[in-house]
Amino acid sequence: MPFCIASVCVIKGTKKKAKGGMAERMNGKDTKYIFITGGVLSSLGKGLASAAIGALLESRGLTVTLQKLDPYINVDPGTMNPFQHGEVFVTDDGTETDLDLGHYERFTNAKLGHNNNFTTGKIYHSVITKERRGDYLGGTVQVIPHITDEIKNSIRLLSKDADVVLVEIGGTVGDIESLPFLEAIRQFRADVGKENVIYIHLTLVPYIGTAGEVKTKPTQHSVKELRSIGIQPDILLCRTDRFLSKDIKSKIALFCNVSNDAVITAKDVDCIYEVPLVFHQEGLDNKIIELLNIWTRTPRLESWEQLCRQIKNPVYRIKIAIVGKYVDLTESYKSLNEALYHGGLLNNSRVDLKFVDSESLAEETCHSMFNDVDGILVPGGFGSRGFEGKIRAARFARENNIPFFGICLGMQVAVVEFARNVAGIEDAHSAEMDTASPHPVIYLMKEWYDEQSKSIQKRDTASDKGGTMRLGAYPCHLQKATLAHMAYEKDDISERHRHRFEFNNEYRDVLEKSGMVVSGASPQGDLVEIIELKDHLWFLGCQFHPEFKSSPMNPHPLFADFIKAALEKSDHRCIRD
Ligand code: GLN
Repeated sequence: MPFCIASVCVIKGTKKKAKGGMAERMNGKDTKYIFITGGVLSSLGKGLASAAIGALLESRGLTVTLQKLDPYINVDPGTMNPFQHGEVFVTDDGTETDLDLGHYERFTNAKLGHNNNFTTGKIYHSVITKERRGDYLGGTVQVIPHITDEIKNSIRLLSKDADVVLVEIGGTVGDIESLPFLEAIRQFRADVGKENVIYIHLTLVPYIGTAGEVKTKPTQHSVKELRSIGIQPDILLCRTDRFLSKDIKSKIALFCNVSNDAVITAKDVDCIYEVPLVFHQEGLDNKIIELLNIWTRTPRLESWEQLCRQIKNPVYRIKIAIVGKYVDLTESYKSLNEALYHGGLLNNSRVDLKFVDSESLAEETCHSMFNDVDGILVPGGFGSRGFEGKIRAARFARENNIPFFGICLGMQVAVVEFARNVAGIEDAHSAEMDTASPHPVIYLMKEWYDEQSKSIQKRDTASDKGGTMRLGAYPCHLQKATLAHMAYEKDDISERHRHRFEFNNEYRDVLEKSGMVVSGASPQGDLVEIIELKDHLWFLGCQFHPEFKSSPMNPHPLFADFIKAALEKSDHRCIRD
């Protein structure tokens, strides 16, 4: 067992240079790698488990980074339907990624970007580009070694970023498409030295009511499958609804060839932020550092403990309506749901969500739909389906002094609604919904100053889907004495974007004269980033996605203030009422 040294961590690395020098870090220490695979079935929470392990290692003073390797063929999830795939998470550098990267950022301090998410499509794209360029000198290009080498190279890209690199393999062991990834991580251990790599396998241990006991067979089969491709897991995370007894752990250990203390109960929890503590109680972080031969300080989990206490004891409760398209599958609003939850935590309030299908929201139904909510939120989205319903929701919030938060498309909706019903521009529209609109208050900006490339950017309707999006972090300057400035308490912020259409400055004057406030804009002033209304409890729309930067330890200021306003609207309704 490694011993603990206060506030320092020492990674005991081998002195010999690993093959290809890949394990070597700049400071002379070996980078350690943890590969996380999943078995039995999907949706066991591999992404959360990876994020929680990252949090535990950080609590011991280690630096971590995380990577997701996704076996699907799409080059990135940017064009994937949120119904099928869940939310598209966007990083600061503008990469459209899998939603698990959202978990990673919410649980750890890792700063993620384009090197943190690779798909089969991205790997093949790169190999085929090299082949066309003649890099393989006429050789036959094959899954092994070319694809597997490319996968290993993508993992190695992170070697210098942290003490420990956690790599989550998407999908379930046994899927045809994940084979090249599993082969690559199998080889990886030999490449960087076996003392620098561990494999953690997440499986299911179901309780079968009729038998009155938990069953270990699915885990045995899943490990057998993994071993058949040459990977012997070092640690098993057993997802279950109850703590596993010593006997059950011994049985799993025996059949799966791991030590007893490497069988960890991954018990269901009420709230995802309890996972690091549950893992710690099971001895997971101790086992990891023992196997990787790392010396660290004792874990400091006070902030997680404090968070869980707060989660368990809310004082108030409020209800927020989310008016959108993907209401049947809340996974597509993952970061949004979490950000609202974080905002609630800061205000000692439980936040109940009411998902409202914008397509079926008629003027007559607004009242009954919203009479029990304390705030209305219109999230991001694409396409015209349900647009008019969202307009009705924004109008209802504006006219009834209900706190309103419009995010990306939600801000555009608020602008169109205000233009039509307050500024008197009856046929105002977004050019995304009506290309022929005589008053496109939201439109495709042909030319604008781009703060990322520090150059003039151009775009038009002919540019291909995806290529024209404003993606990733952009700076925004805030006006003093506005809701936005009060929330952020600073003049300059940076937030993440994912959209094509923009506020049309031709209408700025008339809208401002009618009472709309532009409280945030790009430093050059040409891109409107935040709008709000005077004489309203709290009405704000932002062109960016603040939900991507909210975490339980640092709730996003806009969500915190939106919840605060909703709390006011509810007259501070107590949880007991
Ligand atoms: N569809 C809108 C646009 O492209 C908004 C996008 C979004 O909400 N992410 O501008």
